[in-house]
Amino acid sequence: MSKMKIKLVTLTAFLAMTAVTQGVQLKDVKPGFAKNVIFLIPDGSSSTVSTLTRAVYNNGESLNIDEMASGMVKTYNSDTFIADSAPAGTALATGWKTQDKLIGVKPKAATLNGARVPEVGDELAPAASVLEAAKLDGKAVGIVATSEVLHATPADFTTHSIHRNNYSVIGEQQVHQNLNVVFGGGKSYLKKDNATEANSKKRTDGEDMLESLQANGYNIVQTLDEMKRLNKDFVWGLFAEKDMPYDLDRDKGTTPSLAEMTEKAIELLSKDKDGFFLMVEGSKVDWAGHANNPIAITSEYAAFDKAVGVALDYAKKNSDTLVVAVTDHGTGGLSIGNLKTSKNYPELPVDVFTKDMKKAKFTEVLTAEKISKDKANTKSLAKEMLGLDLTTEELNMIEKTQKTSEIETILGKAMSERAHLGWTTNGHTGEDVPLYVYTSNYANQLTGTVNNSDIALYIAKAMNLDLDKATDELFVSGKKIKDMGIELDIDSTNKFQPIFKLSKNGKQYTFHENKNYYETDGKKVKFNGIVVFNGKEVFIPNAAIKDIK
Ligand SMILES: [Zn+2]
Repeated sequence: MSKMKIKLVTLTAFLAMTAVTQGVQLKDVKPGFAKNVIFLIPDGSSSTVSTLTRAVYNNGESLNIDEMASGMVKTYNSDTFIADSAPAGTALATGWKTQDKLIGVKPKAATLNGARVPEVGDELAPAASVLEAAKLDGKAVGIVATSEVLHATPADFTTHSIHRNNYSVIGEQQVHQNLNVVFGGGKSYLKKDNATEANSKKRTDGEDMLESLQANGYNIVQTLDEMKRLNKDFVWGLFAEKDMPYDLDRDKGTTPSLAEMTEKAIELLSKDKDGFFLMVEGSKVDWAGHANNPIAITSEYAAFDKAVGVALDYAKKNSDTLVVAVTDHGTGGLSIGNLKTSKNYPELPVDVFTKDMKKAKFTEVLTAEKISKDKANTKSLAKEMLGLDLTTEELNMIEKTQKTSEIETILGKAMSERAHLGWTTNGHTGEDVPLYVYTSNYANQLTGTVNNSDIALYIAKAMNLDLDKATDELFVSGKKIKDMGIELDIDSTNKFQPIFKLSKNGKQYTFHENKNYYETDGKKVKFNGIVVFNGKEVFIPNAAIKDIK
C-alpha cells in the first residue's frame, strides 16, 4: 500500500469514526434523500420486550430490528409524563406533541420541554401528518395495523379528532382520505349504526361506511387469499370485525400476518412512480402489555419483527427507501427478573427464564377464551395450549371467576412467575424508548436522544416535505375563510352530521364534516383532503376554497 493510500484509508476511517461518534442530527440530514418511507410502530414495546423476544423466539440471535438501533426517543405528552397512543402517535405523525385523547390535533396545553406551543386560536386545530403531506405530494400512502384500523395509532396518521374513541368521525375521515392501501381489522365499526352517544366507538350518523367505500370505488377484501390475489391499489383489506387475532392464535390459512400485509402493501404502493409512505403498526403488543401476558407480548413482537424484516429487505434492494421503527411508549413495565430473583439473579441461566415460555403454542388470551364455563377443561387446556402445569391454587383462582379477562391475567401471572418476569403496571410507562433507523447512507441516519415529535420532522425532511405548509394547504380555518370574504354558516341541526354552507356572490357551496367533496349547482365536486370539525371551528382544504370565487 502506498503512503498516499494509507493516508487516505486513515482519513476515511477517521471520518467514518467522527460520523459515528457525533451522530446525525435532524438539521444535518439531507432533504429529500428518501423517495419512500416505511414507518413501523410496535405499540407499547419497551426495550425489555425485544430482549425477551430474542431469547424466547430467536435463541438469543439478533432480531431483524436490532441492526437498525440508532438512538433514543422521549415519549411524553405536551403536558403529562406518561403517554397514551393517541397523543404519542400524533407526535410521531405530525411533529406536534399533544394531549391525551387527541388524534392529529394541536394541544391546548404545551408545558413540557420540547413541546411546541400552537399560535393563539390554533388550539385543537388539525395538524397535517407525514402521510397526508406525502399524499399531497403525489405519493401513494397506506396503513397496516392488527387492531381495528380506526384505533389510535393508524388514526393519528390519517385523521383528526378530539377524542380517540370517536370512531364515527375517524372511520368516515379514513374512508374519504383517498388512502391507497388499508389493511387491518375493524369491519364492524364501519357498519351502519344509530348510536346517540358521542365517542362510543359506534357510528352516530346512521351512515354505512362499507357502502361509502364501495361508492368511492374501493376494492374490499377479507381473506388472506383475496389479499394475495390483489394486483392494484385503492383497496381496503378488513380481516376481522374488530381487532385481528394475536399472531400465535391466527388461522394461518385465512388471516394474513402483519408481515404478509406489509409485503402486499409495499408491493401495491411501490407501483407509484412518485414513491410511497407506509405506516405499519404491530398494534397488540400493547394490548398484551396491558394484560401482563408474557406469551402474547413476545409472540406479537416476534410477528412485528418479521414485518420489519420485510421492510428491510425492500429497503436494501431499493436504496431510496427509508425505514424507521419506534414504539410510542412502554406498556406493562415488563422486567426480566422480579422480586423473587433479588438475591440469586446472577446465577440463573437463560433457560430458567425461557424454557417454560418456549412450550406455549397459543397466547394466554386464546387459552382463556377456550376454557369452558364449568372449568372442566382448565387443567388440560393450560397444559396443551400454554405448556403450563397449573397449581391447585391457580386452578382455584380460575374456578372462582367467569371473566375471560381475569382468567387471562391469572394465566399471564402463572407464566410470568415460572419465567421470573416482573410487571409494574396494567397501564403505560414513561421511559425513553429505542429509535431504529435504516437508510442506505448512514450520513442520513438520525441518532442521539430525540423527541417523538422529531421523528415526524425527520420523515418529512427525508421526503422533502414541509408539514407546516401541508397543514396550511389542507386545513384552512373557518376564521380565515371568513377573512377571505366568504360567508360561512354552520348548520348543526343534526349534531352528528354538521353541514357547512359557504357562499360568495350569491353562489352556495355545501360541505360535510369528514368528507372529501362539496356540492354546488346540484353537482358533487371532489377535492384532495377532508373537512374537519373540532366542535367549534371547521377546517377545509385550500384546494376546495380556491374554487369559491
Ligand atoms: Zn396502551
